[in-house]
Amino acid sequence: MVSRVIPVDPFDLVIFGGTGDLAQRKILPALFRRYCAGQWSADARIIAAARGELDVNAFREMVSVSLNRHVPKRAKDLKALNGFLANVDYVALDALSDSGWSELAGKLREDRIRAFYFSVGPRLFGPLAERINASGLANTETRIVVEKPFGHDLQSAQALNATLAAHFSESQIYRIDHYLGKETVQNLMAVRFGNMLFEPLWNSQYVDHIQITVAETVGIDGREEYYERAGAMRDMVQNHLMQLLCLIAMEPPAKFDPNAVRDEKLKVIRALDPVEPHHIVRGQFAAGPDGPGYREVVGNPRSTTESYVALRAHISNWRWAGTPFYLRTGKRLVARSSVINVLFKDAPHSIFGEEAGRHANALSIRLQPNEGITLKVTIKEPGQGGMRLVDVPLDMSFAEALGPENQDPPDAYERLVMDVIRGNQTLFMRGDEVEAAWAWTDPVIAGWQARGDVPKPYDSGSTGPGDAELLMKRDGRRWQGIKP
Ligand code: NAD
Repeated sequence: MVSRVIPVDPFDLVIFGGTGDLAQRKILPALFRRYCAGQWSADARIIAAARGELDVNAFREMVSVSLNRHVPKRAKDLKALNGFLANVDYVALDALSDSGWSELAGKLREDRIRAFYFSVGPRLFGPLAERINASGLANTETRIVVEKPFGHDLQSAQALNATLAAHFSESQIYRIDHYLGKETVQNLMAVRFGNMLFEPLWNSQYVDHIQITVAETVGIDGREEYYERAGAMRDMVQNHLMQLLCLIAMEPPAKFDPNAVRDEKLKVIRALDPVEPHHIVRGQFAAGPDGPGYREVVGNPRSTTESYVALRAHISNWRWAGTPFYLRTGKRLVARSSVINVLFKDAPHSIFGEEAGRHANALSIRLQPNEGITLKVTIKEPGQGGMRLVDVPLDMSFAEALGPENQDPPDAYERLVMDVIRGNQTLFMRGDEVEAAWAWTDPVIAGWQARGDVPKPYDSGSTGPGDAELLMKRDGRRWQGIKP
């Protein structure tokens, strides 16, 4: 199944921080793949702007090396490389002074979409917004793309929203959460709202509980300073897990339209109860045979920053009252796996008697790796004399189901950067959503600080601290396995 590519309108995309890790590893490879797919109009252009005196040829060489490293072989079209690089330019510029801004202004053209991607540290978001305006580079068609982290808490997020709002309208601001660009995350909405099968069962009457797991094998190497200030609650739960929770729990929006979708997500966040202290477990990975522990990595023997969080959340509304949502995420765990499990209730009565055992349906939505959906259904165990039941998976891997040309689904950044050019904000966070998520997260973190909470150590390569198992056990439930 090959999807049709609709070219976008001509654009000038300025990437502030174009020499940085994110730009080289994600944004430029994503743009190259869309270029190869024929989605660019002929005269679209990328202008990287960063600190560092590079001439344009040296920058193109840097991009060429990055593309070779970061674009999967199957998706690489090296014949297209020179054509792509010819549309890439570079300006040495300082976000905090006048240096380079008039040169950048000289490179921008009229009559095309103008987008500015802030792929720089968060302390530069405000100054960049101000300078874009002070240099006369913005018009009503201008878009800005703001990377994570969006604030450190509610107060800083409100201040950043206010700074951006002084220069741009909300319809011009694209706050990235790259989880929303993942194909399977969008599929969550397709599965829920494109099928008759699931939605009638999607409520507390039929769903026992929902688990959202984002497990990582990586540690925090190279991000020690940032992570030590953030921790898993700020780095993962406030944004990525919250967004997944919203998509799984929201009411059907009237249409697939940016504000309709974001209004429904916001209602979910606002309906979240505060988390009870005994419904949350923090962990920190300890030293083990395969590497140093968190405290050694950050060089702080007393660090109380969590690299793991598991919690039980409740949404107080008609659909979900009484159905807990269990969220967990951590570093240096046994496998890299992001999955949402919807565990349905047992059938109200078993006509097969005690010997058949108790069975319940479960829907697993795998976000990464091996994106796909599995529905666990109950059937008769073959060959048995009596009526013994067994659970079997109805398994659908998207790559297998949709054919070989879908082996390499578009990376999240491909979808998101093209949506910026198309002017579609559906998969971007609105300012009020971000603030509501911080308003829910802040008291949890303040509670830890007030109680002097110390995270529980856990072994690298494990599923996290034992207390996270207890969180479930107390409720008569257990986590689904973390499988690669
Ligand atoms: P980086 O340190 O690798 O790159 C920073 C870039 O900013 C460089 O190009 C540098 O020249 C430029 N820069 C720094 N100071 C500047 C100034 N005063 N004026 C102009 N340019 C300046 O950082 P990164 O890892 O690419 O991250 C960029 C942003 O993306 C950060 O906000 C980060 O939190 C976010 N982010 C990064 C990743 C990732 O995987 N790297 C993932 C998610 C979000």
